[in-house]
Amino acid sequence: MSLINLSCPVCQNKSQKDMITYIDTSKNPELVGKLLMNELYSFECSNCGAKRQLEVQMVFHDPDKKVLLINLANQEYTDQLKDNLMKYIPSNYDLSDYDLRLVRNIPELVEKIQILQFGKASDSVIEIVKLLTDGLFMKQKPDAQIINRFFTMANGAPKVYYILQEEQFFVDYNDSLQDFAEEKYNKANTETPKGEFIQVNQKWAVQLLEGK
Ligand SMILES: [Zn+2]
Repeated sequence: MSLINLSCPVCQNKSQKDMITYIDTSKNPELVGKLLMNELYSFECSNCGAKRQLEVQMVFHDPDKKVLLINLANQEYTDQLKDNLMKYIPSNYDLSDYDLRLVRNIPELVEKIQILQFGKASDSVIEIVKLLTDGLFMKQKPDAQIINRFFTMANGAPKVYYILQEEQFFVDYNDSLQDFAEEKYNKANTETPKGEFIQVNQKWAVQLLEGK
């Protein structure tokens, strides 16, 4: 836990709140459920009652799956930021064979956790699936402007959730696209490295498919 300084965006009331900055899934599995339900970082102003979701720099650690995620909370990645966050992790863990990921914000973190729980494809492959799904989507709606899209689980089924200017909706996650994405990934010369913090996102997938 860390004490975080907050300022209400509506009434500017200042406050402090203890926030979870390290989740070890083997010790605190209940926090994962809270995170997925948007309960972990929700904040209600004690002065005006305004509610919002907070961005907190924090570490998500799944020692069984050897995955460690750092949420940058919309800040630029620096060694100092990493060092500050790595203090939370007990030093007896060897991270050299871990999948280490940087995510920009809590929605991206939640997506990575959903991918882990899905368990049928890596985040690398799913980023390619999302790109391929974009292509199919744009054929149907060529004028649509995609603001963002996330892999998610809805009622136990994998989906891609699209956020457009005017609307949001789910698109079915396509198994044959996953097979195709896996082929593409295996053919690419780059393999997602272990023991090294990287961002596996849309940009990463575009570069992989372009062979950069
Ligand atoms: Zn307020």
